[in-house]
Amino acid sequence: MQELIRKLLVDLGEDPAREGLRDTPKRVEKAYRFLTSGYNADIDQVLNNALFTVDYSEMVIVKDIDFYSLCEHHLLPFFGKCHVAYIPSTKVIGLSKIPRVVDVFARRLQVQERLTNQIADTIRDKVAPLGVAVVMEATHLCMSMRGVEKQNSFAVTSAMQGSFRNNARTRMEFLELIKLRSAVPGPRDSAAARYECVGED
Ligand SMILES: [Zn+2]
Repeated sequence: MQELIRKLLVDLGEDPAREGLRDTPKRVEKAYRFLTSGYNADIDQVLNNALFTVDYSEMVIVKDIDFYSLCEHHLLPFFGKCHVAYIPSTKVIGLSKIPRVVDVFARRLQVQERLTNQIADTIRDKVAPLGVAVVMEATHLCMSMRGVEKQNSFAVTSAMQGSFRNNARTRMEFLELIKLRSAVPGPRDSAAARYECVGED
């Protein structure tokens, strides 16, 4: 990877031998390895004995989870807040594990919608709850830095499953509790998608 970064610097019109850039290929490789470390993460290892059997069926919410990801179309960051809720059936997951699950999928090349779905699907598969909801609000640097539709560079995506999809009251309760900075699309509404980086340019 370091040789590729050196070539990239030359292609950008830079001199990779100048002092400030000499160690850049090494640093960039290290940064990218970290930012894509989710590819090597094993979700079962991350959850490692953090599932507990309980007699509890109220909504569990972890909100304002900071996340940082890379847009797969431009390899530029998108980042923001993730809110996760589920209603346990027989199992709960250790609360500290939920941000870890978010990181496993955020630290890959992503589009915001797939990232949102992967987090929800993982909780559905591992916890088997009555319902799960994930909402992500993010700023996409590939849009804001390039001046593309600045006003829409803040994108909201949601994945609602089970009782969050079927029961409007459950969904409203969740949305009220996370108090979004902007409107969230309904469960079958993909309106948010058009505000995201869609890789056209
Ligand atoms: Zn992009």
